[in-house]
Amino acid sequence: MCAKVEIHDTSHITYEGLLEGNKKFVEEALKEDPEFFHKLANGQKPPILWIGCADSRVPANQITHTNPGEIFVHRNIANVVTHTDMNMLSVLDYAVNVLEVKHVIVTGHYGCGGVIAAMGHKQFGLIDNWLRHIKDVYRIYANELDAIKDEKERTDRLVEYNVIESVENLCKTSIIQNAWKSRPDLHVHGWVYNLGTGIITDLKVSRDSTKGLENVFKLD
Ligand SMILES: [Zn+2]
Repeated sequence: MCAKVEIHDTSHITYEGLLEGNKKFVEEALKEDPEFFHKLANGQKPPILWIGCADSRVPANQITHTNPGEIFVHRNIANVVTHTDMNMLSVLDYAVNVLEVKHVIVTGHYGCGGVIAAMGHKQFGLIDNWLRHIKDVYRIYANELDAIKDEKERTDRLVEYNVIESVENLCKTSIIQNAWKSRPDLHVHGWVYNLGTGIITDLKVSRDSTKGLENVFKLD
C-alpha cells in the first residue's frame, strides 16, 4: 500500500485491480490473524469518530496506523461541520449515542483544495454552496487573515480556523451537549494533517464541556 509509486500517475489503478487488491488484503489479514474477519463480523465498538476531508491523500486508518473496526469515519469536502447536514448529524448521533465513542476528532489538512477554492472568487458550480461555509469562517477571522501577506501561510491559517469552527459547531449540537450531561469522558478535538510530512498536529482546541461556548449556543 505504501510502495513507492508516482502519486500523480494513477494509470496503474484499474477497476479490476481493486478486486485483486482486495484478495491480497484478505490474504494478508488472515495470515496475521485467522480470526480477523470472524471477529469484525461480530460487531464494532470503535472509540473514535473521525470527521475528515474526502481528499484521497488523507485516509483516516492509514495515517493513524489503525485497523478496520477502530475508527468510525465521516468525510466530506474540507471537513465541514454544519448543523443542517443530516448526513453528518446522523453519523454523529449514531457514533455518540449508539457506539458511545469517547473522542470526536475533526481533522483538516494543509493544502486542502476546498479551502483554497473557498479563498478564491472562481465559480465551480454546485460545490460553491458547500464552500460558502468556509467563506463564512474566513469572515469571522478576516482581520487576521487579510493581514497575512503570504498566500500559503494565509491558506494554512484558514485550514486551521476551519477545523476550529468545525469543532465549535460540533459543540453547539444538541447531540454533543446532551451527551455531556452524563458523559464527561466525551471529548471533541481539532487536528491538522500535513500532506508534505505526514505529521498530524493537535490544534489543542479540545472540549469536554460547554465551558467557553458562547452563551447563545448553550442548550438546557
Ligand atoms: Zn481537503
